[in-house]
Amino acid sequence: MSESKAALKEFQTEVRAWMKENVPAPPPFLLPLSFLEVGTEQQLDFLREWQHRVWSAGYLGMHWPKEYGGQGADPAYQGVVDRELGAANAPIMFNTIGLGWVGPLLLEMGTEDEKAKYLKAILSGEEIWCQGFSEPDHGSDLGAVQTRAVRDGDEYVINGSKIWTTMGNYADHMILLARTDPTAERKYDGLSFFLSPMKIPGVDAVPIRKVTGEYGFNQVFFTDARIPASTLMLEEGKGWQVAMKTLEYERGVQAGQGTSHWAVSIQIDDLIDDLRGFERDGEPLFQDPSVRDQAVTLIMEAKALALSQRRMRLSGLTSDFPMGLPLSSKYRGTEWARRMKLFGTAMQGASSSLYMGDGDAYRGGFWQRAYFSNFGMTIGGGTTQVQANIIAEHVLGLPK
Ligand SMILES: Cc1cc2nc3c(=O)[nH]c(=O)nc-3n(C[C@H](O)[C@H](O)[C@H](O)COP(=O)(O)OP(=O)(O)OC[C@H]3O[C@@H](n4cnc5c(N)ncnc54)[C@H](O)[C@@H]3O)c2cc1C
Repeated sequence: MSESKAALKEFQTEVRAWMKENVPAPPPFLLPLSFLEVGTEQQLDFLREWQHRVWSAGYLGMHWPKEYGGQGADPAYQGVVDRELGAANAPIMFNTIGLGWVGPLLLEMGTEDEKAKYLKAILSGEEIWCQGFSEPDHGSDLGAVQTRAVRDGDEYVINGSKIWTTMGNYADHMILLARTDPTAERKYDGLSFFLSPMKIPGVDAVPIRKVTGEYGFNQVFFTDARIPASTLMLEEGKGWQVAMKTLEYERGVQAGQGTSHWAVSIQIDDLIDDLRGFERDGEPLFQDPSVRDQAVTLIMEAKALALSQRRMRLSGLTSDFPMGLPLSSKYRGTEWARRMKLFGTAMQGASSSLYMGDGDAYRGGFWQRAYFSNFGMTIGGGTTQVQANIIAEHVLGLPK
């Protein structure tokens, strides 16, 4: 179904009016910059209420089937909503793992029972999902996962530990990659994928403090936790296949995002506006040729990234390397954002060492916090280095 420009324009007018009426005023407490940093009950309640309101208005899951709580519309409509959420500076949609990868995964590979059981509660924000892939000794090398799942009648018994589990302490469910067959010849063939409950005996999530000073991820310990065998997706030994599909959603290779509004939008224009009032040696900061040079480089890169986003929507321009642009967008986009936020921090001179909570910190340490927070983006879903390897091997066909 391709939507006419006029219909989308009309929809945009409707959504914009709704945002004007409904976007809540900023609360008296700090909101997270992205879904990776939801660290207090107060933040969670606020964001959950907001997601529920957006969904109730019919603006979330625009392209998910109606019977599972969606709107059954063309994906272009979710794009419109996302742009309007960003333009209105609206709070983020916090249930990103559910909306962005579990939902699309179930729609593609799940059974009818799984879809009926889980999808609507993801959209409404009632049920939160987390992702149990990384382990203390196995992050990039995901195929080496050691957490064990042993079949016992109608249940699996889980033992082991997952780490960096975003929202693990609040989640109702986890997409869990665990080892069912430690003797399999290929390590990948011994893995299975579960839609595991979290609020059961034997599952403990311990929050970990981040470099930003905030919380958001956890170490999760499984100690003889018993989960229903019906939570196994596909069959035993097929976990790697499902995990790779999940990562395709996470890395943007596969479309199907429930929403892209999962982080506060911080653009180069915000930075330039912010720095206009700054001075260096009594002169406006942007009179300094080296500052101008750095700013212009960042602006040109931002333009190139935006053009790549547009190119991605034109299949004729991507047919030679279909995965190339999405994969390189994560790689280049997150690294660009890190450098941009570092620039915003460094330009404060000696004050750049001040942080949130210091009364003298510029804008309450906004750029410093944004810079530290950005490391989550360059590491999560595959580090920059691993992403470069994937592009080299799977897109360009270079040797390992
Ligand atoms: C904010 C945040 C949220 C996260 N949320 C989740 C979550 O919800 N669920 C989850 O399962 N995980 C989550 N992660 C974990 C994330 O997926 C891992 O941190 C990531 O995959 C890297 O694994 P690692 O930390 O074990 O580092 P390692 O794999 O030990 O890597 C260490 C360093 O070595 C480099 N390296 C490793 N292998 C190679 C290679 N083959 N070639 C070149 N360089 C290499 C890496 O780039 C990195 O610099 C999160 C991480 C962060 C930062």
